[in-house]
Amino acid sequence: MQLENMYQEIILDHYKNPHGRGLREPFEAEVHHVNPTCGDEVTLRLHVEYDAAGDPVVSDVSYEGMGCSISQASVSAMYDLVLGKTVPQALAAGEHFMTLMQAKGDPAVAEKLEDELEDAVAFAGVSKYPARIKCALMSWMALKDASVRALSANHPTAPTGGPA
Ligand code: ZN
Repeated sequence: MQLENMYQEIILDHYKNPHGRGLREPFEAEVHHVNPTCGDEVTLRLHVEYDAAGDPVVSDVSYEGMGCSISQASVSAMYDLVLGKTVPQALAAGEHFMTLMQAKGDPAVAEKLEDELEDAVAFAGVSKYPARIKCALMSWMALKDASVRALSANHPTAPTGGPA
């Protein structure tokens, strides 16, 4: 119970004081995602820079959004988590978050993912409410979408591979 309260505090804090909010330049991709069942929206810009090893690094994630506290707090927690990571690491964090959302509130899953997810683990309780899972996942879907676009923008010769 105490842990659940702490999780709620973390979510509320990100909602009230969102980290990294606002749309900034430069960026290689901008996406707009909506969660119509709840009325949540996010516009997300991704800026990728390449490190010495040639790996794409998340240099900035800037965003504007509106909607429920879960959807907006999720973007803020995601910002903290993925900034400075390589794009593959950021996408792996998204996979961990997806696992958390499929945990149906199982505290063992949350405990296992604590280190990987940092504040984003606070959304563990959301996985008990199927209707709210999409609220928490919206920002991560937007990031995944933006990553694909940003990488293809940086490598215009790479095949897009999208459906015709
Ligand atoms: Zn929502």
